[in-house]
Amino acid sequence: MIPESFQGYAASVTDLRTAVIGAGVAGLAAARRIAQTGGAPTVFESQDRVGGRIKTIRRNGLTFDVGAFIYLGSYSEAAQEMTDVGLGSQMRKVDAYGAMPKSGRLHYLDLRNPLKTLGTEYLSLGSKLKLAKLAWFLAKHWKDLNYTDASGIAAIDSETVTEYCRRELNEELLDYLAAVVVRGPWLSDPSYASVGQLLWTLKNFFKPYFYGLDDGMNALPRAMAADLDDVRLSTPVIDVTDSGDHVEVTFEHDGRQHTEEFDTAVVATTTSTALEIYPQISGFSREYYANTEYICSVNTHLALNERPTNPATYIMCSPREQPDLCGVIVDHLKAHNRCGPAQGMITTFCRHEWCLDHLDAPDQKVLDAVLQFVKPYYGDLSSKVEDYEIGRWREVVPIMSKGRFKAVDRFMRDTDPSARVQLAGDIGPIPGVNGALVSGQAAGDRIAARSRRLRKASA
Ligand SMILES: Cc1cc2nc3c(=O)[nH]c(=O)nc-3n(C[C@H](O)[C@H](O)[C@H](O)COP(=O)(O)OP(=O)(O)OC[C@H]3O[C@@H](n4cnc5c(N)ncnc54)[C@H](O)[C@@H]3O)c2cc1C
Repeated sequence: MIPESFQGYAASVTDLRTAVIGAGVAGLAAARRIAQTGGAPTVFESQDRVGGRIKTIRRNGLTFDVGAFIYLGSYSEAAQEMTDVGLGSQMRKVDAYGAMPKSGRLHYLDLRNPLKTLGTEYLSLGSKLKLAKLAWFLAKHWKDLNYTDASGIAAIDSETVTEYCRRELNEELLDYLAAVVVRGPWLSDPSYASVGQLLWTLKNFFKPYFYGLDDGMNALPRAMAADLDDVRLSTPVIDVTDSGDHVEVTFEHDGRQHTEEFDTAVVATTTSTALEIYPQISGFSREYYANTEYICSVNTHLALNERPTNPATYIMCSPREQPDLCGVIVDHLKAHNRCGPAQGMITTFCRHEWCLDHLDAPDQKVLDAVLQFVKPYYGDLSSKVEDYEIGRWREVVPIMSKGRFKAVDRFMRDTDPSARVQLAGDIGPIPGVNGALVSGQAAGDRIAARSRRLRKASA
């Protein structure tokens, strides 16, 4: 890896060259697959760091994960990648021990013990009985909830979570279960989230743990990049053109514009940037990219001079209890080394609409609001905040509203595996780190297969 600035272009390239635009987890996964199969990837990254939306800030013994918060237990591809890049010794499997507020008290849900969970007073008996319907619906579509074929889930993508719950379940399950499930991980809202997203997220809960990395969430992209020979930081790409027999990539570096030729390319940025830098995106992919809207987040990370005693690793809130706060991740329990042993750290995340309203709000206004939100669970923390970070993100994950899974399915089917320029990112059936990683790997595999065909043809 060339960490701060690159000196000259990759001189020792002997094989087919691929430009990868974006050093988020999708771009890095694509580059690694290409390199592993004998190709020569060059990764262009506009920022001075890798990781994109996986971002960790370290100072004074504190580790703030201001981008992606957690690697879910269901992220088997990401977990495999952690092992492959040598992070095994710092990987922690942390129990997802949740707490949900209802009527002024927290109900603790230990998903490792489903039978005990069923005994909770969080839901009424009537709702627990109705859960059987939801369980059956999930079981029926279990196999459809995968990263490679969205057709099964597209077939049921004609209702929002609210519409489904009102038709099949009840208001209590809508507000205290389904809404919590789409707000918690996705900051979304049941009134527009597709029922497909509810099923996808419920499936994740069947692996009731997280993967923590001691060095922070961005230890994964950093280790992935460290394995690559040519990663060019602070090098924004301004144009990608497929010229028929090669790809021209124009980028800025050291205040100058350069154009370089590659055999193939992977564009692994968010959708609006991809449309800007690669205007040749055409057909349904163009429509799909143009229609992709993102969830916004203003996430607050509080470093505390005292460790709270609350044992939950996360809190997820019903909109009836907390209209704006979706939940809390307890950083000092999610991994080692987030803060000192006597200190605490929590992350709050709020619903998309609240975040849009607060994207440019002064820090103090955001802090005052979140301190009020968490008061019922942690008491008054205002005198205990030693340090803080606020992540302000216009683009977190695509909004999976009703109809989105149908579009995902069509987009995946329309992807031309032999195209010289491939697209990657969290643009598949389930957004987030693992979806982006799998999409990057698939794009890398398509490029590798194309290269194999070319080598064979010229042999
Ligand atoms: C606050 C927050 C919390 C999240 N929480 C979670 C979570 O807990 N679990 C989870 O699974 N997911 C979470 N996510 C989502 C997850 O981080 C993303 O889905 C995933 O990281 C997307 O990876 P990517 O590689 O597709 O895109 P990105 O990470 O966005 O990478 C794209 C890269 O392209 C670069 N780039 C852009 N333009 C150019 C250009 N012109 N030239 C060169 N480079 C360019 C960008 O700088 C960036 O590095 C969260 C995201 C945010 C923001």
